[in-house]
Amino acid sequence: MKDPVRIAITGGAGQISYSLIFRIAAGDMLGPDQPVILQLLEIPQAMDALNGVVMEVNDCAFPLVQEIVATDDPNVAFKDADFALLVGARPRGPGMERKDLLEANAAIFSVQGKALNDNASRNVRVLVVGNPANTNALIASCNAPDLSPRQFTAMTRLDHNRALTQLAQKTGKRVTDVEQMIIWGNHSATQYPDLAHTKVAGKPAFDLVERDWYENDFIPTVQQRGAAIIKARGASSAASAASSAIDHMRDWALGTDGVVSMAIPSDGSYGIAEGIIYSYPVRCQNGDYEIVQGLEIDEFSRGKMKATEDELREERAAVEHLLG
Ligand code: NDP
Repeated sequence: MKDPVRIAITGGAGQISYSLIFRIAAGDMLGPDQPVILQLLEIPQAMDALNGVVMEVNDCAFPLVQEIVATDDPNVAFKDADFALLVGARPRGPGMERKDLLEANAAIFSVQGKALNDNASRNVRVLVVGNPANTNALIASCNAPDLSPRQFTAMTRLDHNRALTQLAQKTGKRVTDVEQMIIWGNHSATQYPDLAHTKVAGKPAFDLVERDWYENDFIPTVQQRGAAIIKARGASSAASAASSAIDHMRDWALGTDGVVSMAIPSDGSYGIAEGIIYSYPVRCQNGDYEIVQGLEIDEFSRGKMKATEDELREERAAVEHLLG
C-alpha cells in the first residue's frame, strides 16, 4: 500500500463538499490504491454540521480513509497538506455589492494563504472553488510567499465540462470525441468558451455547427449554466462542481493526454496581463501543467479574451491592498 496523502478541504459542511468528500474517500481523485487523510475545515458555527459529515464518512467504512481531522483552525487543516481544495467561501448576502463580496472573501483567503504558507507540504497543490475563485486564488497565493504561485489554481473545469457536453449533444457525438475545448479567463459570466481550435471526432467544430449557434446559443448557455441550474433545481450546482474539482486535481497530479482548462497564474501568454489568475488551455504531465502555446487567435476571440481579462484586472484592483 502507498503512504497516505493529506487532503485539506475547506467548507467541509457545505453542499459541494457533501459530494466531494465522499468521492475523494472512494478513490475517485487519486486512484483506488491511494490512501488518504482528510483534513476538513469549517467556520466555528458549522462545526456541528461538519461533525455530522465526519460521522457519515466513518459510516461508509471507506478502505482508503486512514484518518479524518475536523477543525476550525486553518493551521491544523493545512498541516502537511499535499492537496488543498478551497471550497468554503462567503456567499453574497442581501444588499452586498460585488466589491463587498470580494473584500469579505479576500479576508478569508488571505488567512488561508498564510496558513498554507506556514503549514502545508512544500509541494502542495491548491485548487480554489469558492467564488470569486480566480481572485480568491490570487489572494491566497500572494499571502504564501514561500510557495510558488504555480501551486495556486482556480476551477474552470466545470465550465469546460459543461462546454464538452453542449457540443457533443449538438453534434450527436460523445464527450470523448471532443478535443481541444478551451475556457479562457474568469470563472464568471465573462468567461470565453472557445471552439476555434476544437475538434469533434477529428473534424473542426466549426465545420459541424453554425456560427449563429456558437455565438448566440453555445457561448451564453455555458456562461449562464450555473444560473440555469439554480432555476431548475432551486439550489446551486454541487455534485457537478465536486466532480469537476476531482477532474482538475486528478489530471494535475496524474496527468492527461488531452487539453483541459485550468485557471492559473498568467505568464503573459496570449498577451494576457501577468498578475492575475486566468483560465488557459493546458496539458498536464509529470505532476505539472503547461499552457498550450501557438494557437492562432482571431479578432472575435481576442475581444472575448480581453473582456474577461479586464474583469479580472478590475477584481484585482478591488483587493490590491490585501495582496500582501
Ligand atoms: P457550496 O458548497 O454550494 O459552494 C461553495 C463555494 O463554491 C461557493 O463560493 C460557490 O460560489 C462556489 N462555486 C464555485 N463553482 C461553483 C459551481 N459551479 N456551482 C456551485 N458553486 C460553485 O456552498 P455552501 O454555502 O453549501 O457551503 C459553503 C460552506 O463553506 C459553508 O458550510 C460555510 O460554513 C463554509 N465556509 C467555510 C470557510 C472556512 O472553511 N474557513 C469560510 C467560509 C465559508 P457561489 O456562492 O457563487 O455559488
